[in-house]
Amino acid sequence: MANLVFDRDSRTSMDTLCTDLSQLDRLDEQAILQQLKARYEADQIYTKCGDILIAINPCKELPIFSEKEHEEHDWKNYSPDGVPHVFHIAGRAYQQMREMHANQVILVSGESGSGKTESTKLMVKHFVHMCHGGSKEFHDKIVKINPLLEAFGNAKTVMNHNSSRFAKYLELSFREDGHMTGAVVRDYMIEKSRVVLQNESEGNFHIFYSLFAGAPPERMRELNLKSAANYKIMQSCSSLLSKEQTRMYKKMYEEQMDVLESLDMEIEELDNIHFILAAIIHLTEVTFIDSQGTEGGVDIVNSQPDGPLGIAADLLDLQLESLGHALISMTTDFAGTVVRRFKSMEQAEDGRDAMAKALYERLFGWLVRQINQDIHPQKKRGESAASIGILDIAGFEKMKTNSFEQLCINMVNERLQNFMNDCLFKIELAIYKDEGIAMDNITFENNDPTIELFMKPKSSTLRPGSECTKRIFRQTRSAFARVELPSDIPCSVAKYGVFRRRHWIWYDADQFLEKNRDMLSKELVNCLKGSTNELISDLFTIKKGPTGTISATQYNWRASRKGPVPVLPHPKGRLTSKLAQLACDLRGTLVNKCGKVDGPALTKLTASKDHKTVVSYFQQSMSDLLGKMRVAEPFFIRCIKPNFGLVPKNFEDQKVLEQLVYTGVTGIAKIRRDGYAVRRDYPYFLLRYCRPLWPDAAKLSDTKEATRLVLLKSIPQSYHQDFRLGKYKVFMKEHVSVCMEKLLFKKQ
Ligand code: ADP
Ligand code: MG
Repeated sequence: MANLVFDRDSRTSMDTLCTDLSQLDRLDEQAILQQLKARYEADQIYTKCGDILIAINPCKELPIFSEKEHEEHDWKNYSPDGVPHVFHIAGRAYQQMREMHANQVILVSGESGSGKTESTKLMVKHFVHMCHGGSKEFHDKIVKINPLLEAFGNAKTVMNHNSSRFAKYLELSFREDGHMTGAVVRDYMIEKSRVVLQNESEGNFHIFYSLFAGAPPERMRELNLKSAANYKIMQSCSSLLSKEQTRMYKKMYEEQMDVLESLDMEIEELDNIHFILAAIIHLTEVTFIDSQGTEGGVDIVNSQPDGPLGIAADLLDLQLESLGHALISMTTDFAGTVVRRFKSMEQAEDGRDAMAKALYERLFGWLVRQINQDIHPQKKRGESAASIGILDIAGFEKMKTNSFEQLCINMVNERLQNFMNDCLFKIELAIYKDEGIAMDNITFENNDPTIELFMKPKSSTLRPGSECTKRIFRQTRSAFARVELPSDIPCSVAKYGVFRRRHWIWYDADQFLEKNRDMLSKELVNCLKGSTNELISDLFTIKKGPTGTISATQYNWRASRKGPVPVLPHPKGRLTSKLAQLACDLRGTLVNKCGKVDGPALTKLTASKDHKTVVSYFQQSMSDLLGKMRVAEPFFIRCIKPNFGLVPKNFEDQKVLEQLVYTGVTGIAKIRRDGYAVRRDYPYFLLRYCRPLWPDAAKLSDTKEATRLVLLKSIPQSYHQDFRLGKYKVFMKEHVSVCMEKLLFKKQ
């Protein structure tokens, strides 16, 4: 693309809009920021940073995703200096997959609302476009499953009105001739706590609103549902119940039903989805009062068949009594004698919520499995195939109050950033060092300390008492200057301030342990397993998904077989035990700092591990994902949110700068500018160029010298600084390699 003339701001040194940041004369944060801003104002939302794509959310529709762009970025027309575009990355991944017959993975990252999910959807469209000739019906399905997944997995948050609350790894499989043969969706880490509790002004998962807005009256009667405003879990965001939103949700409901039908869902299965959703709504209406009986505990406020408990039991095909008992009591086995105890108010409420969350999570997992069954690759025997994976995870979050959910999401993002650092900096710098090639002034924001802070705390020193909490803060403060210790830490609320330069997050540690433990008691599991509805009973019985992975929906049940995690009883130790628990969890499989995942060892490790907690489940999901990504060729898309409210034409310098800093864009631009993208072993280089071009040099026994000679004789003088000779390899800038290839081509 021709560079646009830019003379709006004479204070900056640049006067053109450059499509690749690594080509800028001045390479610092301000120069990069101004460049991105100028491009953004000209609706150029995509910019390259070497081989990475920076995508700024336009916050409005742009006419750049039409047939014309699909054609322009078709893999057949691929050129390394093509216009930066999300289709261009997809085109390159597809081209590379076809030419090298190797798996590719595209990592889309950025904070919540930065445009990750939209980018993912656009890429899927482009893949479908590139592999003409496949089944139209299948291609439609691949595109259509998105709205369905979003209905169940997305919700309105303060950061994004349609925020993904789960991580999605979509793996598209292709035949050797490039036809798409199928796909697998892997869902990770659904934020199920949202079902029962939403932050102020945030919504529940979209599906609940569309159920109320769209289900026909006879369905609503069958589900015993009145209007949405009557129910606790529907009340957090009144704007979602407005007339306008209701109209939109009604439309969504109709579309969702169409997609479900196109997935060959049977009527019974459609009924079940409705029953489970409605059961969750009624179950969360169940309330308790302190029991008047001698045994203590609590009673259910209204246990009549037409009360919330009765309706929920009916929808789930459970006996009202057995559900009631499981909610208010638990049994303990004392050396063979089973003793029934009553739950406290807190335990009963926790159990009710855990049940609602588990139902939702398992329904979601089941839905993903149904989708997979319909779209999974139909591989013929002996047919070789490769895949392209696209990872879209819930982005970085920094809110007014950050709790356990944010910690989990942010730690996953940190881990991913760490992986990106490994790929872009550490491995690259290590190669140069190994080969004895000087590469100075490359800096990047290394987040190892953050990962380490959470992965490897000195847990042996953890003892109950607030003294210990202070010690944790002291230790972390001395180790990482960025951790701040509030002057007075209330016993029940601890706040962590961690993360990178200019990126402060305070975590409210209240309820960390409870949220982390997240256990469904065995009574509740057994009760659900006893449902006469086959699906519900199945959801609570361990099974492998069609993809062979242990589904996200199964860890609770596995955990429940082992009984509850012990909690330190000392009341003052409550907070400390939370931190201790978390610390112990985080030391698990996620610690894989040097980036090497040992496949078999990992399988052994994770297979033998029951997930007792949310964190350990997150860790396995993450390790699983990283393992996949490490054996594929990675591509990176960095999405950037131009302003908090996602309003068009508003590029907030400070907001963007913050994101540039923590993603290390400046460092990436520098390493791409100063680095040598093409590297060849000496024997390979000589075999390819020496004999055809300079046969005399082939007589030299020193391969390094021979290479130097060939290059000096072949390339123009102005390129002489653009290659380096390492111990085993020659390192060249792209244009040097292109020049050599051209010479070779002329000679042949
Ligand atoms: P994320 O997945 O990073 O949280 P989304 O992809 O959901 O963010 O994007 C948030 C919103 O921004 C979308 O709902 C859409 O309105 C807008 N948006 C994002 N990318 C684009 C795009 N390429 N074109 C138009 N609007 C976009
Ligand atoms: Mg998203």
